[in-house]
Amino acid sequence: MQAEKNILSRIQKEFSVMASQDPKDLDFYGKDWTLDCPPNPLAILFPKSTEEVSKILKFCSQENIPIVPSGGRTGLSGGAMATQGELVLSLEKMNKIGKVCTLSRTLIVESGAITEAVHQETAKYNLTWPVDFASKGSSQVGGNISTNAGGVNVIRYGNTRNWVLGLEVVLMNGEVLSINGALEKNNSGIDLRQLFIGSEGILGVITKATLKLVPLEKNKRVFLFGANNLKQAFKICRFTRENNFQLNALELFSGNCREAVSEKMNVQNPFSTAYSWYVLVEIDEKNESAVDQWLVDIFEKSLAEDGLEAKSSEEIIRIWKLREGIAESIGMIGHYHKNDVAVPVDALEDFLEEYNSLVTNEFARLQPYTFGHIGDGNLHINTLKKPDVSEQDFLEDSKELDIKLYILTTKYLGTVSGEHGVGLLKKKHLHYTRSKTEIQIMKEIKKILDPKNLLNPGKVID
Ligand SMILES: Cc1cc2nc3c(=O)[nH]c(=O)nc-3n(C[C@H](O)[C@H](O)[C@H](O)COP(=O)(O)OP(=O)(O)OC[C@H]3O[C@@H](n4cnc5c(N)ncnc54)[C@H](O)[C@@H]3O)c2cc1C
Repeated sequence: MQAEKNILSRIQKEFSVMASQDPKDLDFYGKDWTLDCPPNPLAILFPKSTEEVSKILKFCSQENIPIVPSGGRTGLSGGAMATQGELVLSLEKMNKIGKVCTLSRTLIVESGAITEAVHQETAKYNLTWPVDFASKGSSQVGGNISTNAGGVNVIRYGNTRNWVLGLEVVLMNGEVLSINGALEKNNSGIDLRQLFIGSEGILGVITKATLKLVPLEKNKRVFLFGANNLKQAFKICRFTRENNFQLNALELFSGNCREAVSEKMNVQNPFSTAYSWYVLVEIDEKNESAVDQWLVDIFEKSLAEDGLEAKSSEEIIRIWKLREGIAESIGMIGHYHKNDVAVPVDALEDFLEEYNSLVTNEFARLQPYTFGHIGDGNLHINTLKKPDVSEQDFLEDSKELDIKLYILTTKYLGTVSGEHGVGLLKKKHLHYTRSKTEIQIMKEIKKILDPKNLLNPGKVID
C-alpha cells in the first residue's frame, strides 16, 4: 500500500498531473458499462496534455506499472475496466475541439472530446462526423476510434475507421507519434493509423485526431414497418435494398424489444397492433417520388403488415427511441446477458432463423431479445432471465448459448464481435473467428509496441 502511495505521489509531484484515489472515483472510472466485472484500480490520473500523457507512460514503462486508457466508459466488452490494480488514464480533461475547416471538411479534436459535442460543433457548419449511436452523449472520440465504433449509419458511411484522417498517439515508452496529419491521400507504405484504430487501447494512447466530416443530411425521412414473422421482415429489407435511393439506416428489432421500450421509456407502439418484428428505415434521398413509390409498392406487394412515415421531427425522435432505447430498457426489466456478433449480410436471415430455433429448442429458460443493424449484418443478441429461473441457471444457460452462438457464427463466416470489441469479455472466444496466425500476428505487434505488456494488459489478447 505504501509503495502504491509513493508511486502516486511521485506522479503528482514530478509531473503535476491531477490524480484521485477517492473510492467513488475508483469505482466510477474503474469500470465501463459492462456490468460483469468489479473494478479495482490503483488510482485515476487526469492528464491535461499530450506531454503529460507522454511523461506518465514513460514513467509507467520504467517502473513496470500497468495502465488502462479510459474514455467515456460506454464500452460493452470490458475494454476500459481496471480489475487488477492498474492506473486508469482518463482522457476526459483533454476535450478541446478545434475549428472546423470547411475547405478540407476536417476538424482536429483532443481524444477526450465527447462524440455529441463534436456533432454540435460541426452542425454549426452544416457538417457532421458520421459516427452516431445511442451512447454518443457520453462516449469520447478516443474511445470511438479505439473501438472502431459502428452504429446506426454504417450502411451509409461505414465504421469510424473511414472518418479519421490523422492520429496523434503516445506509445508506452512515452514517444509521441503523429500519423498522417490531414492527408486525404498517402500511399507511402503501411498505414499505421489503421493499426491503432480499433486496437482497444493495447497499442498506444490516442491523444488527438483529425476527423473527416460530411454534409449534414437534408432529405431525411424515417419509416417504421410491422411484420408478423422474420421472413416478412427480411422481405421488407430486401425490397428496400433493391431500390437505388440513399439509405442511412436499416434496423430490425423483435416485438418484445419494442414492448420493453414502450414499457420502460413510455414510447407508445405507433401501430394499433403489436407485431413480432419491426423494421426501421431511414432514407436521405432528393428524389422524393422514388421514395413515395417504394412505399406504395411495399403495401401493394403486401410486404409489410403495417407501416408509417414519421411526419415531424418529434415523431422521428420517437420512432428512433423505439430502436435506440432497447438496450437500456431491457436492462431495466431485469438481469440480461448481452452478445454482439456479425455475419455477412446475405447470410443474416438464415443465421437468425437458426439462432431462433436453437433458443426455442434448447434454451427455453432464456427469453431472447434480438435487435440489430440489418444493413451491415450486425446483431445484438440478448437474453433475459425469466422470473422463475434461478440466477445460477440463467448464467449457466447463457454461457452455454454463447458457445453455440459462436459456433453458429463460425458456420456463417461471421465474427464474434461486430461492434463492441473484444476487451475482456470476448478474449477467450476470439479463436472462433480469427485464425491462430492472425492472433499470433496481433501478439507480435503488441510485443513491438509494448514489450512489457503494461498498456491495457489482459485485453483483446494475452
Ligand atoms: C447504449 C449504448 C449503445 C451503444 N451503441 C453502439 C453502437 O451502435 N455501435 C458501436 O460501435 N458501439 C456502441 N456502443 C458501445 C460504445 O459506446 C462504443 O464502443 C464507444 O465507441 C466507446 O467509446 P468510449 O469513449 O465510451 O470508450 P471506453 O468504453 O472508455 O473505451 C473503449 C476502449 O477504448 C480504449 N480507449 C478509450 N479511449 C482511448 C484513447 N484515447 N486511447 C486509446 N485507447 C482508448 C479503452 O481502453 C477501451 O479498451 C454502445 C454502448 C451503449 C452503452
